Amino acid sequence: MAPMHDGARVTAAINHLECTICGAGYDPEPGRYTCDDCGEAGTLDVRYDYERIAAMLNRETLAADRDTTMFRYRALLPIDAEATPPPLTVGGTPLYLAPRLAEMAGVRTLWVKDEGRQPTASLKDRASAIAVMKAQEEGAAIITTASTGNAAAALAGIAASVGQRSVIFVPQSAPEAKVAQLLAFGATVVLVDGNYNEAFELATAAVGRWGWYNRNTGVNPYVAEGKKTVVLEIVEQLGFVVPDAIFVSVGDGSIIGGVHKGLKDAHALGWIDMMPRIYGIQAAGSDYMVRAFESGADVATMPAISAVTAADSISADLPRDRVKALAAVTETGGAYLRVGDDHILGSIPRIAAGSGVFAEPAAAAASAGHAVAVEQDLDGADDRVAVISTGSGLKDVPSVLAGVRAAGAEPIRVPPSLGALETAMEQVTND
Ligand SMILES: *Cc1c(COP(=O)(O)O)cnc(C)c1O
Ligand SMILES: [Zn+2]
Repeated sequence: MAPMHDGARVTAAINHLECTICGAGYDPEPGRYTCDDCGEAGTLDVRYDYERIAAMLNRETLAADRDTTMFRYRALLPIDAEATPPPLTVGGTPLYLAPRLAEMAGVRTLWVKDEGRQPTASLKDRASAIAVMKAQEEGAAIITTASTGNAAAALAGIAASVGQRSVIFVPQSAPEAKVAQLLAFGATVVLVDGNYNEAFELATAAVGRWGWYNRNTGVNPYVAEGKKTVVLEIVEQLGFVVPDAIFVSVGDGSIIGGVHKGLKDAHALGWIDMMPRIYGIQAAGSDYMVRAFESGADVATMPAISAVTAADSISADLPRDRVKALAAVTETGGAYLRVGDDHILGSIPRIAAGSGVFAEPAAAAASAGHAVAVEQDLDGADDRVAVISTGSGLKDVPSVLAGVRAAGAEPIRVPPSLGALETAMEQVTND
């Protein structure tokens, strides 16, 4: 058990780390990532002392707290109470009520949580903020991760904000804009001639070889704790009345696991009295979780499935956080659903025009999945629905262009004359 006081330092309210497969408990000591007995599939879950937390963090303290970043929930995070968060503003993203998008989707109430507003433009900043703090707590010279792109950008950006060195492994399929972000932040970028799975294995080997701090998703027990703050914000933004359903896109399954964890925390602390159904949305070409959900297979042993999708952020052969990801859906009465790439790309302009939120393909997948849920009657017209838009459309402009072209949207081309514009405008208004 972690001591409450370590000299003058007030440690996080962690009880222990618990294996999500066998339930074995571990101390949260440096170098501890996964379960000794279950291997890499045995991701650990951070277990807290909720009684201690409730005294520090409750609806009254929240109401009085002027910190609007994710660190307003610091008592619920695996970091020391006195540790300084990175200077970038992480969290505090808007939750928009989107009536026109709701109408298009055939539901009465729909909110969009815009994570494109994070400092490096995706939800991953929440995870990397925690990982960088943990690396600094351990005095690590280098922090590393493998990533399809956004976790890498988040790690590089937040590491840059505190002067921490980072080495980042990305598959060659990563969009150029994401690689540009990494290089601009001064990260050492290793472009792996292989897919995300292979980049992940290489990063793991490098950790073994050089002892770097490992931020890898599904291995590092603390990153999902950062991700859970997205739903703590939703809970607070909705006045502690949860939506009926939450839609989130799934690659490695760490975000959806974090969403589930945040809701369990909120429930344990008495902030909410019911759990929303959680829906995990995958691309049809990267549907490991959907298949596991449909077949009832054991994800601890189910082998990888080769993934191909335009939604690069949710392309995962073997979702690294699959145990938590499956529990998030089965324990809340949700479902896993798949959506085709055409539907995903077509959803980008639909969300943008229907709500003003600009989503990258993986982010748009959640809303596309909501449309599928409505079609399949999983979600009724009276349900109150929250869709998490996990990353900005600026991350992957070629995919946005493909989506708008497929929707038939083209610019009006005119010579620089008012007469020509008048003729062109007549055609537009006659359409
Ligand atoms: C990483 C990511 C996801 C998926 O998160 P997982 O934890 O891998 O399931 C979805 N959307 C965006 C934009 C992402 O960057
Ligand atoms: Zn175990």
